[in-house]
Amino acid sequence: MKKQSVYFRVVNKLSLRTIIVIPVFLILLFSSTLSYFQIENFVNEYSAKVIATNQVRITNHIYDHLDDYFEIPETVNKFNAILAKNKQLNLQDERLLGKILLNEVNSNTSIDYAYFANADGGIVSSGLYQGTNRISYTEDLKAGAFKIYEADEDGNILNYIKSVENFDPRTRSWYAKANEDGKAYWTDVYSGAQEDILGMSTSYPLISPNGEKLGVFGTDILLDQMSEFLKTIEITENGVVCLVDEKGLIVASSTSEKPFKDMDGAQVRLAAIESKNAVIREGYNTINNEYNHFFYEEIKAPIKVMGEDYYYSFSKYSHNDKINWNLMIAIPRDDLVGDIELLFFKFSIIFFTVALLILIAYIFISRWILKPIIFLNSRVNQMANDNWGVQIETERSDELGQLTRSFNSMSVKLRDYLMMVNDKQKELEEVNASLEEIVYERTKELELLSITDSLTNLYNKRYLMENLTQNIQISKRYNETFSIVIFDIDHFKKVNDTYGHIEGDVTLREVSNFLSSRVRAVDVLGRYGGEEFMIIMANTELDEAYIAAERYRDELSKLVIGSKNIKITISGGVAEYRTGESLLDIVNRADSNLYKAKKSGRNKVIK
Ligand code: GH3
Ligand code: MG
Ligand code: MG
Repeated sequence: MKKQSVYFRVVNKLSLRTIIVIPVFLILLFSSTLSYFQIENFVNEYSAKVIATNQVRITNHIYDHLDDYFEIPETVNKFNAILAKNKQLNLQDERLLGKILLNEVNSNTSIDYAYFANADGGIVSSGLYQGTNRISYTEDLKAGAFKIYEADEDGNILNYIKSVENFDPRTRSWYAKANEDGKAYWTDVYSGAQEDILGMSTSYPLISPNGEKLGVFGTDILLDQMSEFLKTIEITENGVVCLVDEKGLIVASSTSEKPFKDMDGAQVRLAAIESKNAVIREGYNTINNEYNHFFYEEIKAPIKVMGEDYYYSFSKYSHNDKINWNLMIAIPRDDLVGDIELLFFKFSIIFFTVALLILIAYIFISRWILKPIIFLNSRVNQMANDNWGVQIETERSDELGQLTRSFNSMSVKLRDYLMMVNDKQKELEEVNASLEEIVYERTKELELLSITDSLTNLYNKRYLMENLTQNIQISKRYNETFSIVIFDIDHFKKVNDTYGHIEGDVTLREVSNFLSSRVRAVDVLGRYGGEEFMIIMANTELDEAYIAAERYRDELSKLVIGSKNIKITISGGVAEYRTGESLLDIVNRADSNLYKAKKSGRNKVIK
């Protein structure tokens, strides 16, 4: 047999059902696993890409806004200084200057206070305090009591509030630094600008065309505006943005948390790593611990916060060399891929349901196909076990139905054919049996013929010799004796001569019939020669044989034969078998006794 490949050796061992169902199962498993990893991969890559793009977009947006936010108060200061330098701003009339400055504050939402102080220690300051307009000044812009008034929107003084004694603006950093450096200056972030609000100030020196330092213009901004702005930025549902200054203290954030903490009843600025907001706290804690000098690094890192994956981006914002802040943007992975993953989950459920249905349907289909095949198989097996003519019921009209019907008709045809063959075989057997019988009969006839003398119907010489041989063997085995007699008709030639051959034959037959009727059933009588007869007497001694022979001779001599009334006599020689003798020995002895009988006058028996 041809050697099979491993594949076929395995496949040939499987059942049809397995071969049909397993590939579908494997295809479904393979395609689902492949799709799962493809989608998972896609979601990860997609989210990383989108988050990175989003972070860049948000960062740029915030930076642009901060630039604008810081430029406006700077510009107002510079503009005031230019006007003053060109004598277009009256620096002697404190009330008029107060009006102008208040107007500037009210027309720029990002500015909360605007002020001017001169080298003499005089000051004018206008702004918004808890929703009301205020104008404060020292009389005639000279050093002295700093009086605070409430004013209307146009800057007209409404009423006096209070006075601050010994207030010297020249000692303040905004004045001193700008005056000293001769350029714009920004203060650090400070608390208590107003209750619960952080503030910052920027200032710009007024220098006369001949280099005289005449004073400083300043503006204040309140940083709660920045928090409001950060809250309006569209990040993602749970995304967080936070601005932190060089000291690691929160400047503004998109959360509702105030950038303060309570310390012994006082409001103290809040550090990012102390924030109650876990995303801010953990984010800054992580980069504090894992990165040195994080502050001015660009860092993008995934960080786990309370079991959720967040994509963080930290970057440095700088303005005017003075402001160096850190911007944190944290976007939870779930915000972005949550919907996709939910969709993916729903899709997976649908996919697996469909796959399961396909598999179930496929199993049913395979059963529908295989059931009749398996049934057909069992019927063919039955047929192989001699159960011919089995039928399978089917109502199907498809190929399997046709196959089943073909099987049914084949089964019936085979049965009929086999029945026919069976009948023919029986007939043959019968013919054979009768033939055998005929042959047997014929053989018997032939056998009889071969040992029968045709004229007398007695045994012939051949049979007599065979019988003698048998008797010699029996005698040897059982130690039994036997005797023989040979008769010869006396002067038979004369009978022929006198009455003719026909009558001679008649005589021979008559003598035969006579002897046949006289000998014992166990004795064997045969024609030994022309007119010679032999009688073999089993289990008979010489004397006994002699007596019988003598009696036959006597009776024959009295017989009248045929229409011619022929009378004959016979002579006989008797011999008994002697142990160890051959066939010829005993026959010769009987012959010689016969000869003696002839010699001594005939019609006698000699033993
Ligand atoms: P003996 O007393 O000495 O026996 O004399 P015999 O004439 O009988 O003996 P012989 O041997 O001279 O002759 C035997 C004769 O028997 C010769 C033969 O013609 C005859 N004979 C032998 N067979 C047959 C036979 O089948 N039919 C007829 N009709 N005669 C036979
Ligand atoms: Mg003779
Ligand atoms: Mg004779």
